[in-house]
Amino acid sequence: MPETVRPTAGAPPSRLVLWDVDGTLLRAGEVASAAFTRAVEAIVGRPVRHRVRMSGKTDPQIVGELLAEAGVPDPKRHVTAILARLQVELRGAGPVIAARGEVLPGIRELLPTLHADPRFLQTLLTGNLAPNARVKVGAFGLDRWLDLEVGAYGSDDADRRNLVPVALERVARRRGRRFEPGAVWVIGDSDNDLACARAAGARCLLVGTGRATREELLPLGADATLADLSDVAGVVALLAG
Ligand SMILES: [Mg+2]
Repeated sequence: MPETVRPTAGAPPSRLVLWDVDGTLLRAGEVASAAFTRAVEAIVGRPVRHRVRMSGKTDPQIVGELLAEAGVPDPKRHVTAILARLQVELRGAGPVIAARGEVLPGIRELLPTLHADPRFLQTLLTGNLAPNARVKVGAFGLDRWLDLEVGAYGSDDADRRNLVPVALERVARRRGRRFEPGAVWVIGDSDNDLACARAAGARCLLVGTGRATREELLPLGADATLADLSDVAGVVALLAG
């Protein structure tokens, strides 16, 4: 493992780490995907039997695709109400997520390690609506390591590729810190995470703990691709480099 030089005390963070949630930090389990179906059914009043690929997509995008698959006329009309319902469905789901879901390898050590290291500022960049992201990471107590107020969420933009600038703007406004795109790492588990990093000129670490394995992710050509994040010292050195 390469030795890394500790910055002098009081130096501002030099790396912004933007974490995807599902498949990267944790798996929320069936309750999270079932909440989509229930929310759509509750609002459009008919059963939804279709499933769509959710990996790397924003919540508004998933809802739009579910409505299209279900053949609901004028789907845009329902999206806002369904997203509100989705939030209600997940509001009390923390205990079930904690019981049936899991935190992915290395995360329980990596998040506090980065939090304690002054070189890093870390938050979320996720397709989840902000309140739903908070429920998921909060279910496992991961929220204490993340500066959630400066994150970027599916509630900010339905197109994930627009989310890095949202986080950068919040970090500048709320924490007085400006990061060049090359000092930003997007960590995710799908091609959509990579596309979002590329759109902003940020670096991207892909991890094979979601739907795709490391071997499947490798050809995408991210800046780094790992099977999981269990080599905590190695990941810290990579992000600091
Ligand atoms: Mg993901």
